Amino acid sequence: PVDTPKDKGTFVIATDTTFAPFEFQQDGKNVGIDMDLLQAIAANQGFEVEVKPLGFDAALQAVQSGQADGIIAGMSITDERKKVFDFSDPYFEAGVQMAVSAKNEDITGYEDLAGKAVAVKTGTEGARFAESIKDQYGFEIHQFADSADMYNDVTAGGAVAAFEDAPVLQYGIKEGLELKTVTDPEKGGELGFAVNKGENAELLRMFNDGLAAAKDTGVYDLILDRYLKAED
Ligand code: GLN
Repeated sequence: PVDTPKDKGTFVIATDTTFAPFEFQQDGKNVGIDMDLLQAIAANQGFEVEVKPLGFDAALQAVQSGQADGIIAGMSITDERKKVFDFSDPYFEAGVQMAVSAKNEDITGYEDLAGKAVAVKTGTEGARFAESIKDQYGFEIHQFADSADMYNDVTAGGAVAAFEDAPVLQYGIKEGLELKTVTDPEKGGELGFAVNKGENAELLRMFNDGLAAAKDTGVYDLILDRYLKAED
């Protein structure tokens, strides 16, 4: 196409390792809602991306230390994070939810966590939420760098519950993860793309413009359908 803008340069974008349906690897490619959206936006706006799946906390740090230009990692837009990052317009909704082992019949709410351990992923909203209620409900916290290890702690019985974004739990459970959700998702959790505060304003603007275009043209819905549409 002759009217495709080109040559806005290449940006290094940090992301989580495995956080389906937002980012995961398939046949050696980075796929998922975040990855496909980023590629669509980059193509629309005429820039290139080099994606680095680092893990969530490591991705936050890579942007803060200037090793990456931006982050898209199912990242929640929060007031706390707005002190250090500039966020794009939100592109998805995802509140924190509690999951337990599929076989567990004893833990049905936060009040059943007394004297137990819960698993969280370092630096996430799930971790922050668990911290915020742990004294009230009397549980301890196990920290992990990625979601797979966090889930394993629950299925192996180290922790009785994990706190994770609701759509990620739903997707994982549908794909065979041996967990079940036992609470309603907590409120909040709009997801956004982010850059270091005060830096890469042009990249942020292009992301927002490209996101708006993806919504207008139906590309956004197409990407969501690719990962969220029920097959049966
Ligand atoms: N949405 C959550 C957060 O921003 C989790 C992100 C993630 O684990 N990749 O903290």
